[in-house]
Amino acid sequence: KRAAQEAERQLPARTVDGHVLAVGANVNRPAQVPLALGQGAEGVGLMRTEFLFLERGDTPSEDEQFETYRGMIEALEGRPLIVRALDIGGDKQVAHLALPREDNPFLGVRGARLLLRRPDLLEPQLRALYRAAREGGDLWIMFPMITAIAEVTALRQHCERIRAALDAPAVPLGIMIEVPAAAVQADLLAAHVDFFSIGTNDLTQYTLAIDRQNPELAGEADSLHPAVLRLIDATVKGAAAHRRWVGVCGGIAGDPFGATLLAGLGVAELSMTPRDIPAVKARLRAGRQADFAALAARALALDNAAEVRALDAGIQGEAS
Ligand code: PEP
Ligand code: MG
Repeated sequence: KRAAQEAERQLPARTVDGHVLAVGANVNRPAQVPLALGQGAEGVGLMRTEFLFLERGDTPSEDEQFETYRGMIEALEGRPLIVRALDIGGDKQVAHLALPREDNPFLGVRGARLLLRRPDLLEPQLRALYRAAREGGDLWIMFPMITAIAEVTALRQHCERIRAALDAPAVPLGIMIEVPAAAVQADLLAAHVDFFSIGTNDLTQYTLAIDRQNPELAGEADSLHPAVLRLIDATVKGAAAHRRWVGVCGGIAGDPFGATLLAGLGVAELSMTPRDIPAVKARLRAGRQADFAALAARALALDNAAEVRALDAGIQGEAS
């Protein structure tokens, strides 16, 4: 039985009507890759590089970053790796960078805004990434907290300059869609990038104006709120207009019911904590893409997250 379960994890997330979703893992360290593959991950959809800076008293050198990215690529044996450039600020503060104190760090110099102000952080990271790409593997690079097209243009210029100087191969360049402004302008942003990855944790926080760390409001910070789903829908449609790939790497991708709605909205990949993979794959494999799409269409028209969650109860009820 156990062997059968383990074999099932390795099957693709193919729905009953033949639609296949890619399933990735959110993993930061090479040592965690084998475990993620054992759970059925087909690649890494989100490597958060903050951890390289967070658990220590200084900034990692370019060489040290290179070794870590290479280690991830090697552990993945040809499977895709999406590395997110440093996302410092908001809930991710790094004491040794001694950044100025902000009254509202979630609305401050975070993610791409910090990278564009601090070439001393951006450039070594991009050099390490392109050096890693030069050795082979399937590396994609993405940038966090994008709110404006000008940020994307500027970051792409940095990437191209560093790539050319290293004589490295071009790699797919993408952005996180995790701010409402980016979701609303996804059709425009899509012309400037190779892919999107939707960060539903921050997209929910910024859409509902609920601090993602506030325990008092945790019950209301539901990524299945129809307002958030509408922004995901806009993102997928904006990407489709330019035939761009869309993944989701926020927490809701690891919720089996959430995964069916995201599938129904038309995303290509779901990336999650490794332990969530088996249940999500099983759920996707048990249903039909046509039904997921109909369900998502109904969810978009509802008033609130509780009504969306009730759709799940309804379906489970019908099935039993
Ligand atoms: C997100 O915001 O959904 C996300 C995946 O990024 P993080 O949780 O690291 O902010
Ligand atoms: Mg985020």
